[in-house]
Amino acid sequence: MLSDLITSLSSNPYFGAGAGLIGIGTALAILRRSSQYGLIFFRRQFMITLEVPNNDISYTWLLQWISHQLRDSSRHLSARTTLIKSDEPSSRIQASYTFVPSVGTHYFHYKGKFIKVERTREQMINSGVPFESVQLTAFGQNRQFYIDMLEKARDAALLANEGKTLVYVPTINEWRLFGHPRRKRPLNSVILDKGIRENLINDVEHFLSNPLWYIDRGIPYRRGYLLFGPPGSGKTSAITALAGHFDLSISTLNLSQGTMTDDRLQQLLSNVPEESIILLEDIDAATVGRHYEKDDAIRYQGMKPLTLSGLLNALDGVISTEGRIIFMTTNFIERLDPALIRPGRVDYKQYIGHLTPYQVERMLIRFFPQSTRNEINQFLNEIERLTDNYSKELSAAQLQGFFMYYKDSIKHVFDNINQLYYL
Ligand code: ADP
Repeated sequence: MLSDLITSLSSNPYFGAGAGLIGIGTALAILRRSSQYGLIFFRRQFMITLEVPNNDISYTWLLQWISHQLRDSSRHLSARTTLIKSDEPSSRIQASYTFVPSVGTHYFHYKGKFIKVERTREQMINSGVPFESVQLTAFGQNRQFYIDMLEKARDAALLANEGKTLVYVPTINEWRLFGHPRRKRPLNSVILDKGIRENLINDVEHFLSNPLWYIDRGIPYRRGYLLFGPPGSGKTSAITALAGHFDLSISTLNLSQGTMTDDRLQQLLSNVPEESIILLEDIDAATVGRHYEKDDAIRYQGMKPLTLSGLLNALDGVISTEGRIIFMTTNFIERLDPALIRPGRVDYKQYIGHLTPYQVERMLIRFFPQSTRNEINQFLNEIERLTDNYSKELSAAQLQGFFMYYKDSIKHVFDNINQLYYL
């Protein structure tokens, strides 16, 4: 019966054509599906993929390294421009450019392997900070290949960063490299009153070279410094120069800006990059005078802004196996809560004030190294007169600004000395 039915159907030309089409369609669908599975299987078995998100420290290094590998082969690049501001008094601002692979797909050859690079970017809805990642795909199963590559990228970056200071700034909950590494600020370019710089260097040196002292006593291996005094006196510059001297990066947080909450600060301070000085600027503005206003509910997404106890908890939570150095700066020490600057949180306090005759002399020599003894004495007399025997405040930033104006000759400095406070 059944065989008769099949024979009669197959001898029917219309039915035969339909069945044929269905058959072909089904076969194609199976083929497509199996080739998809085959591709997945092939990728899983024979290809190795590495994704590096932009919140990983290797991200920038890897991108730079890839751009070097791509050399002239890729014509889709993104430019990164850095302004190079030198600390040398007479130099001009210059710019340097580096290129990294743009968002999209690129290919390069490395160690006999063909590597696919996919750089992606997504806009984060909450933060507005784009999330980026770079994904590499290559033949092979050996992850050591990627480890070698990441180490190569790191070594190349460290070599390029030699003599430079890295600065990290926070995004929402992580730290990100800010701009390009800057040339280290030489210690002798920061002119503080007699002994201040040397004492600071000695203290940091002593701290970094004595981890056992802390471990033996069960004390968290960290040291807090507070530099206080009027603006433009060299607090931030001193910290930048110290970081350069000790080969540390700086992770800087301005607590008065942005939307800082207890949780966010806690999170940020618990994952500061290694070998980095934590710099909390204008610490007086962190919690003082903050009112929880109507708009804050939107700005902070329902969370409360930073509180004093949140700040203290976050500071106490900074624990690390390597020496952790926290610098705080303020123009108003009298506004700080005593709990914030008690030993253990702040172990070393230093006033950095307006210029003294000692600093004025050194600043003149730094800007005009050829000055004669007579010129130095004359200049000191002029400053004494203009500041009413140093009763009128003069900051290092003010004097630097004046020198910059007349940097071409010391004669111009003397001719225009009465302009000192009016520039
Ligand atoms: P502060 O942190 O005390 O407000 P900064 O370190 O930011 O001051 O200094 C502001 C500017 O003035 C910088 O360009 C810096 O080079 C210059 N400056 C301030 N103080 C000094 C100093 N003591 N020695 C050299 N330059 C200084």
